[in-house]
Amino acid sequence: MIDEKINQKYIKKIKLFQKYNKHYYNLNNPLVEDHVFDELKSEILNLEKQHDFLYHKSSPKTSVGFKPSKSFKKVKHSVPMLSLSNAFNKDDLLNFEKKILNFLNKETNFLIEYSAEPKIDGISASLIFKKGKFIAGLSRGDGKEGEDITENLKTIKDIPKFINLKNFPDEIDIRGEVFIKNSDFKKLRDKFANPRNAASGSLRQKDPNETKKIPLKFIAYTFGYEKGLKVKTQSEYLEELKKWGFKTNPLNKKIKTIDDLIKNYNEIEKRRGEIDFDIDGIVYKINDFKLQKRLGNVANAPRWAIAHKFSANSAVSKIENIEIQIGRTGALTPVAKIKPVNIGGVVVSNATLHNEEEINRKDIRIGDTVLIERAGDVIPHVISVDFKLREKNSKKFIFPQTCPSCGSKTVKDYNITTKKEDAVRRCSSEGFECEKMAIEKIKHFVSKEAFNIEGFGKKIVENFWNLKLIRLPQDIFKLDFVKIERLDGWGKQSVANLKYSINLRKTIPFDKFIYSLGIRHIGLENAKTISRNLKSLKNFITFSKKNTFDNLINIDGIGETQINSIKNFFKNDTNLNILYDLEKILKVKNTEIKRTDGLLNNKTFMFTGKLLNMSRSEAKSIIEQNSGSIVSNVTKKLDYLIVGEKPTSRKVNTAKNLKIKILDQSAWLEMLK
Ligand code: NAD
Repeated sequence: MIDEKINQKYIKKIKLFQKYNKHYYNLNNPLVEDHVFDELKSEILNLEKQHDFLYHKSSPKTSVGFKPSKSFKKVKHSVPMLSLSNAFNKDDLLNFEKKILNFLNKETNFLIEYSAEPKIDGISASLIFKKGKFIAGLSRGDGKEGEDITENLKTIKDIPKFINLKNFPDEIDIRGEVFIKNSDFKKLRDKFANPRNAASGSLRQKDPNETKKIPLKFIAYTFGYEKGLKVKTQSEYLEELKKWGFKTNPLNKKIKTIDDLIKNYNEIEKRRGEIDFDIDGIVYKINDFKLQKRLGNVANAPRWAIAHKFSANSAVSKIENIEIQIGRTGALTPVAKIKPVNIGGVVVSNATLHNEEEINRKDIRIGDTVLIERAGDVIPHVISVDFKLREKNSKKFIFPQTCPSCGSKTVKDYNITTKKEDAVRRCSSEGFECEKMAIEKIKHFVSKEAFNIEGFGKKIVENFWNLKLIRLPQDIFKLDFVKIERLDGWGKQSVANLKYSINLRKTIPFDKFIYSLGIRHIGLENAKTISRNLKSLKNFITFSKKNTFDNLINIDGIGETQINSIKNFFKNDTNLNILYDLEKILKVKNTEIKRTDGLLNNKTFMFTGKLLNMSRSEAKSIIEQNSGSIVSNVTKKLDYLIVGEKPTSRKVNTAKNLKIKILDQSAWLEMLK
């Protein structure tokens, strides 16, 4: 039974593994980032290690890629196209070499020569040449069978179509990587997650004319079947490839010791940002073909090669510029525009520099070579600068003393709690006079937690701003829909939808309204606290007219910082006018204070089925008047499920399982007596 459970868990993971592979290799549209995929892969391998009885033909231990897509003819490879084992650190490399020496029965002082080749992150292809003629080209597929993509490969300029040279073998499958340059990827960014997917997607188009439109490149590095190849080592083979007219990687090298492999790895990782295509590691291959032959393969990779992968969450790149972004509250956030670099399967071209203090502390400058980290959901950021690579004429970055958007002075607040100046510099303009701030404020106004206007996303705010359709929040309720309908990308239906979502929000609770104004230090919780105390927009307006917000100091949770912020906000005429204008347009619902002294205080209720002589709304209102609350799901948090006529049996059963009290209407009303 326990084994069965483990097997079920294993099969579930294998199914997910196959799903990810299908999306990555066949559909060119990965469902998850590489590190998530790699984690799943190692979970499966660990399970297999712990439990001998686990087996699946698609296990990552034995499989390569994914079966060929049905869109292409399947063709068997004469010699399988394998994957590579991975190494992540020096220990992995020492282990790799030790295993090889053991296998070959060599002493530990036997010096192995390696061909070290940057690992291009593209997709591999096998080009079959007979009598010098390129006759067919295949993708890797599942390693045994590939897709016939001959016509698509023919569109790639780097691939010679005919080789009329004496020493060119009679028959050979030249293998290498099809990829796309990062600079060319920029144009395809909207369609694909990264250059690798773009290359794969473009190469495996049904129509070769579509492939032709994309500037795909090819770099050769190995071979499959051959008849008449006269070289003895991998590095000689790479030299021959060049003579035959193929492109090879200019950073390929012959290296002997593990220490030198690591030195080369570090040097190339540093230069990764300068190279115009993605590399995700360095491949080390035993240089001598005789030794390669003796070593042979494991199920899905050669024993004589290993890929030394670069770190999945950091990479080195160059800062091309430092731009200053201005947030809703005026905070100036410096952003490094970096040379695009692939970090764990995602192309990163922006990295936050957080604030002025961070730039000064790390002495970050335009032109610097920097280490960028991108981990989990955290925004990519600069870890450190490589000072050795700093250009001689580099200049210290001077943080703007005036707002780049509106020209107002930039200031740093004094923090009363820490008794220090804030790290963040801000635009001193209070309101909509600063264009960048205004746009961000409107984005906040329509956002989910605020007015929650469906279909009014950030892009639309920017677009409407550029078209001068909006300048202030109230403009949202006075939009010229006739004009919008004539705009590119808009039609009758989309305009009707937008109109509907806007109208829907003309009624809004008072706390949401306060939050939407985007007053600094007034988040959702503070907005709720203020709304509970002031109760209505009318009172709020009276406070703002007389600027009597100091009275709020007695409210628990509201301090000097919040009060000063509200006062500053309403010192500004535009902000006051927004308030007055919105009052005329909207219906702001007063905040009703929930009683806590009722009979049902701290109790939660849910209804299912039709009630007798009473609507659902009335029933809910009775609960709330008696200090109880309504919940929408049957969970452990529910105290009572009130059952009317024809209740939903699923709800009743769940409640029974969770041992929740189930009452009929009369028993519930009895509680109130
Ligand atoms: P791999 O890409 O890590 O290594 C093998 C490949 O390296 C070869 O097939 C070849 O194409 C390439 N290569 C480049 N330069 C080479 C050289 N000089 N010599 C030999 N080979 C060279 O292995 P893989 O099994 O194809 O793919 C695994 C990678 O794909 C992992 O990074 C994984 O995260 C990613 N992946 C991600 C997802 C996802 O859903 N995100 C799904 C599947 C795979």
